[in-house]
Amino acid sequence: MQTSTTDLIEQTLTRHEEISPGVFVIGFLRQHDFKPGQAIKLGIDAENPPRIYSICSGNQDDELCVLFNVKEDGFLTPRLAALQVGDSVFASAPYGTFIGTDDPAWWIATGTGIAPFRSMLRSGQGKHKQLVHGVRHLNQFYFEDELRAGLGSNYHCCCSAESADGIHSGRVTAFLEAQDSLSKDWKYYICGQATMAVETRDLLISKGIPFGNIITEIYF
Ligand SMILES: Cc1cc2nc3c(=O)[nH]c(=O)nc-3n(C[C@H](O)[C@H](O)[C@H](O)COP(=O)(O)OP(=O)(O)OC[C@H]3O[C@@H](n4cnc5c(N)ncnc54)[C@H](O)[C@@H]3O)c2cc1C
Repeated sequence: MQTSTTDLIEQTLTRHEEISPGVFVIGFLRQHDFKPGQAIKLGIDAENPPRIYSICSGNQDDELCVLFNVKEDGFLTPRLAALQVGDSVFASAPYGTFIGTDDPAWWIATGTGIAPFRSMLRSGQGKHKQLVHGVRHLNQFYFEDELRAGLGSNYHCCCSAESADGIHSGRVTAFLEAQDSLSKDWKYYICGQATMAVETRDLLISKGIPFGNIITEIYF
């Protein structure tokens, strides 16, 4: 994906919330239609290169929102975290090919990779879906109440560094490895860090899932 600054439009923040330590949802009034799963380029001015963020809001919501975690030594995220409602950001129109549908699918995320699946759910695509979210710590199940309300027992939480009732101990790959009924006809959407995406893809292929049914969005 390109990250040119030429197509960025100034927007005024209408939302700036720290939903977990170092993790923020920010948003501005939605001006474009988009397909759930798509992303925007986002910057703090028109000069510095933007970064890419999945949209985490629904395609009928008034606001267009993204979810991000602060990289202490990163360029953009500490600056985004320091903004307030009323401040400006610079955003592109939505784009991208990681697009949800009404077809049966597994949605597999780690960390902030939950963002496009929350958008798909809020956009009415929650039917015939299984969502697996992997995190290190229990306070990283972003949008947990909303996802549980929308998906019920089809929402599976995996935590690798802490344990709690109703939470699967370990990583998403361990959870998927233990599943003996992964349909070869379903789609498998994977979103998150590269290592997890590659490991998950390889695991699915080893379980007989056709490569063409695996759709991946890598955060780098
Ligand atoms: C399609 C896509 C969707 C994405 N969606 C999201 C999302 O929804 N939420 C989200 O939080 N993130 C998302 N990302 C990641 C996001 O685009 C940024 O990469 C992330 O927020 C970090 O931005 P930053 O400017 O703060 O850090 P950066 O300045 O980009 O730095 C990131 C890390 O790289 C290190 N680094 C920087 N420069 C170098 C260098 N020269 N050599 C070695 N290391 C270096 C930094 O120390 C830091 O740890 C997405 C990425 C892609 C590609």
